[in-house]
Amino acid sequence: MSAALLSETDQQAGDPTAADLIAARPHLSTHPMDGLLVEGVPLLAIAREVGTPTWVISAGALRSRLARLHAALADLPIRVHYAVKANDHLAILRLMAQGGAGADVVSGGELQRALHAGLDPAHIVFSGVGKQEWELRLALERGIGQINVESAEELAMLSAIAKSTGKTATVALRINPDVDAGTHAKITTGRADNKFGISYDGAAALYAHAAGLPGIDPAGIALHIGSQILSMTPYHAAYRRAADLVRTLRAAGQNVRIVDCGGGLGIGYRDEPAPAPEAFAATIRQAFAGLDVRLAIEPGRWLAGPPGLLLAGVVLGKTTGERRFVVLDAAMNDLLRPAMYDSWHGIIPVAATDLVAPATPCDIVGPVCETGDTFAKSRALPPLAPHAKVAILDAGAYGSVMSSTYNARPLAAQVLVDGDRWTTIRARQSPEAMWADETVPAWI
Ligand code: PLP
Repeated sequence: MSAALLSETDQQAGDPTAADLIAARPHLSTHPMDGLLVEGVPLLAIAREVGTPTWVISAGALRSRLARLHAALADLPIRVHYAVKANDHLAILRLMAQGGAGADVVSGGELQRALHAGLDPAHIVFSGVGKQEWELRLALERGIGQINVESAEELAMLSAIAKSTGKTATVALRINPDVDAGTHAKITTGRADNKFGISYDGAAALYAHAAGLPGIDPAGIALHIGSQILSMTPYHAAYRRAADLVRTLRAAGQNVRIVDCGGGLGIGYRDEPAPAPEAFAATIRQAFAGLDVRLAIEPGRWLAGPPGLLLAGVVLGKTTGERRFVVLDAAMNDLLRPAMYDSWHGIIPVAATDLVAPATPCDIVGPVCETGDTFAKSRALPPLAPHAKVAILDAGAYGSVMSSTYNARPLAAQVLVDGDRWTTIRARQSPEAMWADETVPAWI
């Protein structure tokens, strides 16, 4: 649908219009009768059969984003390790594996999921600041490719486990480069006062110590400076420090084969100019040129974010004083990001008639008993009758994985679209399933 077909007034304070948002997302389009489509599938058909709220993910968008990233990095000795935390559904992991990606996991649970989805253990890296003994043991037993160690204490624990099991752990030391990624405070991880990684100044000594520990093969360094990074500047700074450290370590006689550059590549939720993967590739290429190291990256959001949306239904519209509220059947328990990070998501109507109707500002909220249960403020939407549908865009990463059953709201259904096909890949949770593991003691 062209911009002209959409309302002239559906733009608040420079917000992109629904037409702008659709045009910037190749897997979305509109049909004069069926309204908003994901690939070839009308969202109204999904809502009719599965109900709302429902997560909808485009397999085509996932594949094409992974292919574009691989193409941008094609001349580098690099592997893409998809950050499982962004969206850990087995079908997403299978698509990543089919597309040639490995995985970055941060818990024993993610490791088990990745293995269950068919990822090659040799292509799994294990990050995280608080890995437990059973998790490290599992990683060694299953022969995963690399463990990113974040402290001297973890290194000692890993060495003891490796020794007792007769295994050797391939280790990258996660360095904290003390670089400000310029993102939301809750998702910045590379500052000296964050909990992550080993201090830059202490890294060379710990590397030498690691080389002397039984069961430890110190193979390189890793870093991850934050998430939703929109500029190459912090990457330049962090990777320069990483390259310097490789040179320092080698000058001290250490064997350094690997640099894991982490994730964090941002996406354009609104209309912010998001960095292209080609720019990211160029930054990596420049930083590590001539160093003869194997490289890795750990993108999550960039791969899984844009392909997903949260399809929600309108419960009712109400006016309180001057403000118009649209109350959805989705809430902060489904998509936490706006409440947790004040994040902006495009929210657009789904029905063809709603896409062309004049829009006025409203607050779009969920039914949970928290003022923070607000998806958007002063956002232009047309009048929406009860049961009308809206799509909350770019919700594929850090969406369903952060859901809870707060307010005893069952976990939403999930649907995968591929061309004209679609399948429910997670059934809506039943009320009984919410309390299935609870026990009421006989003595009360
Ligand atoms: N790698 C590590 C160690 C992380 O902690 C994260 C998330 O913060 C990621 C990769 C993925 O980050 P993003 O989804 O921003 O690419």
